[in-house]
Amino acid sequence: MSDTKCLIIGSGPAGYTAAIYAGRANLSPTLYEGMQPGGQLTTTTIIENFPGYPEGVDANQMMADLRQQAQRFGADIRPGVITSVDLSATPKRIEIDGEHTVTADSVIIATGAAAKYLGLSDEQKYAGQGVSACATCDGFFYRRKTVAVVGGGDTACEEALYLAGLCEKVYMIVRKPYLRASDIMQKRVFDAPNIEVLFEHETIGLTGEGGVEGANLVYRRGKEDEQMVHIAIKGFFLAIGHTPNSALFKNYLPTDNAGYLLHEPDSQRTVIPGVFVAGDVADPHFRQAVTAAASGCRAAIEAERFLNQ
Ligand code: NDP
Repeated sequence: MSDTKCLIIGSGPAGYTAAIYAGRANLSPTLYEGMQPGGQLTTTTIIENFPGYPEGVDANQMMADLRQQAQRFGADIRPGVITSVDLSATPKRIEIDGEHTVTADSVIIATGAAAKYLGLSDEQKYAGQGVSACATCDGFFYRRKTVAVVGGGDTACEEALYLAGLCEKVYMIVRKPYLRASDIMQKRVFDAPNIEVLFEHETIGLTGEGGVEGANLVYRRGKEDEQMVHIAIKGFFLAIGHTPNSALFKNYLPTDNAGYLLHEPDSQRTVIPGVFVAGDVADPHFRQAVTAAASGCRAAIEAERFLNQ
């Protein structure tokens, strides 16, 4: 006899949507919220592209609503971080907070992804003292100051625009001669009077006593006109993409080169019967709230079919 028919790991749109569907299917799912209850969306502000919200929706509110909706259908939502798993066992064994083990007939992995860093030792040196991977979490501390955002994708543009509303000036440090972001985000960035995009710049270090006071950059590294550049900043925000939170499962489940968990085509099933994946941990392509939610729905429907077999 297992502790739960369906154990869901993760509390982003994928995990909560899986819990809503599993709950409505009478599976009485248990969901562990993980280190970041509500997932990555809780580090953003307004979501403008989730269908059904013509004026956009506050990200934290949407996650609170999803959580409440899952609870309404009987999901048992618990705080706790998964510290190890045994997916080869029947039932599956999941260790929580290194303290106790829960057994489950089916498992839905929806652990999401985490922000990437450049790998500079200064990022650690100034962690919590000017270095951040979340503008909406930490931007408030940099009101009327000058900051930099690293990256040229949609996330970097979103973070830069958010910070532009708070800060005196925002530099965007972009390693290529162009932005990768969507046209609409690029336009907003170029239209913002206090955002300056530094194309073809790479960060090599941070400076400051007791907190970030500047960044050393290289312009056109390796080219004839390579040049060292120093910018005075108080905050250094990373927005260069994400790494899937898949490390715990690698002994059991295959991943692609970037660490994203693999699943069967047109399905959320993995190579292990009864183990399903959903959301960003298995999605190198779309990484949207709506696609994560859809995959959570699919995983729960497949878990129900598996349990009924
Ligand atoms: P992306 O992978 O799209 O962009 C990452 C950016 O960081 C690129 O400009 C990349 O540069 C740069 N970068 C990566 N590594 C380094 C490094 N070591 N040094 C310097 N720069 C680096 O990630 P995002 O998080 O921006 O977006 C992920 C997905 O989520 C995308 O599909 C995006 O469209 C989507 N998204 C959508 C949003 C929305 O619709 N509102 C909001 C946010 C994200 P390079 O181009 O040179 O590789």
